[in-house]
Amino acid sequence: MKTCDLHTHSTASDGSDTPSELIHLAKEADLAAIALSDHDTVDGLVEAEREARSIGMEFIPAVELSCQFHKGNMHLLGYYIDMKDQEFLKVLARVQAARAERNPKILAKLQELGISITMEELKEMASGGQIGRPHIARALVKKGAVRDVGQAFEKYLKRGGKAYAPKSILSPAEAISAVLKAGGIPVLAHPFSLKADTTEELQSIIIDLKSKGLQGVECIYSEHSPEFTQQLIQITRALDLAVTGGSDYHGKAKPYIKLGRGKGSLTIPYSCVEELKAIRDERS
Ligand code: AMP
Ligand code: ZN
Ligand code: FE
Ligand code: FE
Repeated sequence: MKTCDLHTHSTASDGSDTPSELIHLAKEADLAAIALSDHDTVDGLVEAEREARSIGMEFIPAVELSCQFHKGNMHLLGYYIDMKDQEFLKVLARVQAARAERNPKILAKLQELGISITMEELKEMASGGQIGRPHIARALVKKGAVRDVGQAFEKYLKRGGKAYAPKSILSPAEAISAVLKAGGIPVLAHPFSLKADTTEELQSIIIDLKSKGLQGVECIYSEHSPEFTQQLIQITRALDLAVTGGSDYHGKAKPYIKLGRGKGSLTIPYSCVEELKAIRDERS
């Protein structure tokens, strides 16, 4: 069976592989297609597309936008976005500015707790890419303040953690509309992170997002149990939205997640790409 991975990160955000390396890893993993979906940036897409073309790998330009949400985390994936769309680039610039303001706030809170990390150290760790909490987590591990990245989030960086500072500035409606205007297909990322209490709550969130323009749901995902995946596919099909899937590969930043394979048993059928293409072709 042909398989793919529609959710990955590179050094343009908080992944550890360069866009080119990612394309080669996709080839080695025998994937039929790969999307690069860095957090709040399209900076890796030109390199990834060029490399993909040169080795004959199907590539889908994408992005993962953080949204404001009253509980849990809401991330929106945008597929086949026009990476040169000026309005979209302006939205990303606004989000990136919010990120840049947030990191010093987190560092100041850590400083108050007696842990000293500088922006320079973070910049070095991010090697030019978007700086995010995973970089701060790695710095905390390096300083010996925590045992591992998981503990760094648990103790300091998660919402409610001792050094947490909020970042997201886009409402779900703004994020969906920005993706649509840039010619992209808006897809709800990893719904488990919404932390809905019941299937009904989850369903009503997705119905609401559909009314705002959502066109797909990432049902197949590294952290979703088989039962949850089936539930999601059912909800998604009933609403006539596209079923997509991705591992959320971050390289060394999340060593337990393998490209295209997640924690080992993940399989993302190529039909997910075909569903996205059907939506794209319907438009043109
Ligand atoms: P940011 O974009 O700075 O808000 O950071 C988001 C990144 O942090 C995503 O890649 C998440 O996967 C990662 N992340 C969030 N919570 C945790 C956690 N508990 N352990 C490890 N990584 C996490
Ligand atoms: Zn990430
Ligand atoms: Fe995400
Ligand atoms: Fe992600």
